[in-house]
Amino acid sequence: MWPTPPVNRLHPPSPKIIRRLTEIVGPANALTDPALQVAYLKEWRDLYTGKSPLVLRPGTTDEVSRILEIANEAGIGVVPQAGNTGLVGGQIPSEAGGEIVVSVERLKHIRSIDSAGTSMIVEAGLTLSEAQAAADARGRLFPLSMASEGSCRIGGNLATNAGGVAVLAYGNTRALTLGLEVVLPDGRVWDNLKTLEKDNTGYDLRDLFIGSEGTLGIITAAALRLFPKPREKETALAALPSLAAALDLLHLAKEHAGLELTAFEFMNQLSLDMVVRHVKDARLPFGKPHPWYALLEISSLSDDGHAARVLERLLAEATEKRLVSDGTIAGSLTQARELWRLRESISEAQKPEGGSIKHDVSVPVPAIPEFIRRADVTVQKICPGARPVPFGHLGDGNVHYNVSQPLTMEKPRFLALWEPMSRAVHDVVSDLSGSISAEHGIGRLKRGELARLKSPVELDLMRRIKSSLDPNGIMNPGKVL
Ligand code: FAD
Repeated sequence: MWPTPPVNRLHPPSPKIIRRLTEIVGPANALTDPALQVAYLKEWRDLYTGKSPLVLRPGTTDEVSRILEIANEAGIGVVPQAGNTGLVGGQIPSEAGGEIVVSVERLKHIRSIDSAGTSMIVEAGLTLSEAQAAADARGRLFPLSMASEGSCRIGGNLATNAGGVAVLAYGNTRALTLGLEVVLPDGRVWDNLKTLEKDNTGYDLRDLFIGSEGTLGIITAAALRLFPKPREKETALAALPSLAAALDLLHLAKEHAGLELTAFEFMNQLSLDMVVRHVKDARLPFGKPHPWYALLEISSLSDDGHAARVLERLLAEATEKRLVSDGTIAGSLTQARELWRLRESISEAQKPEGGSIKHDVSVPVPAIPEFIRRADVTVQKICPGARPVPFGHLGDGNVHYNVSQPLTMEKPRFLALWEPMSRAVHDVVSDLSGSISAEHGIGRLKRGELARLKSPVELDLMRRIKSSLDPNGIMNPGKVL
């Protein structure tokens, strides 16, 4: 029998508990006024809006610890939040209105950067951009990078095991993390801020908390890996005749550039049409449309034009082999940014096109063309005229298989198809031995799908871990499991 977290034993905080929690952080950081709470209760796509009697903004690990100790004793649900950019509703409390929100946004210290610049210890409320800038100021690179980096925070990146555009070369957040500081549901602090490359002392607890989406504890700080900063970066946008050509180009790029291939993103024509239609000053550098595009980035530690030479040789061979129909190499940093903006604006450009049903999935890299072909057929059966907008991190097998509504359909009617469409797309993913969440997590959005598609053994293990670390079920109730 699966142990079930005792969610129904939770209840809203009494006025006395609200007073005690407020004393911990001070009245300015204990928000009860709905107008001040809005930013913490609504996510940017308006998919989820929650209610909460209290939003707390602790400023130290000790304050987080005292909050959780009280919440655990009193049986109050706690929703951890960092930058509120999560895409699966994990950071938003339920509509029932009994859970408190604990935002880590005030935990902003850079605690240390080691003398060799190989690691830094930062607190969970630093935005990803701030963490990147801290590394940069020491002449080092923190490579995690994604379109939300100005708003998402390290705590959220860790809790979702975020991916982004540099996974191909540097791995996801898990691969960039050496140690953690976590406040456990009962208020104890697990201090594991080690900067060791090797530590084989039993079960890897660090990896348990990374990707746990706030269901096992609150991450308050992390020891992160830093890397040498590339001196050169070359970016190109290649127009491609087919997805098969995109895969061949990826293999060729790996042969030419090896570990210097730091990004390989793909998108279809419709994605870029939407960007050109809706994003200010966006334009495509080609005279005519092409079915697919790849955005490539090659980085080098040398500063003698090596990256440019590798990219030019690669594109010349790819053109000769007819893998590339047209291409442009950014001639300046501004042009490189413009090319990246095309890729990074796709989600934003889908908004004015009406409803969009989104899937963040991964399949083995060679199976990507088959996945998209089968998913397209499936989607058309469920909603004739729906417009697939597949794009993402081809090099990692990660497809953002977004589907925009038919032009003439009403948005609510289209969005009502979310469940059947997602189930059908996830069935294709499952059939190809893929994953229904490549980088965004499970949260609320995919909880049912996780239960449907994970093996009973895995679900059993996950539930046992949850109930042993959080026996009262206070952490992020109703999320993931
Ligand atoms: P939040 O949204 O606040 O929280 C996310 C989850 O983590 C929630 O379940 C929350 O309860 C939990 N949590 C937050 N802080 C803590 C903590 N300190 N301790 C424990 N649990 C915590 N994601 C990618 O992986 N790759 C991308 O390329 C990418 N691109 C994006 C582009 C855009 C435009 C947007 C809006 C989002 C994108 N995302 C992407 C999704 C999102 O930015 C990431 O999931 C990010 O890691 C979430 O960080 P956050 O600080 O906003 O977390």
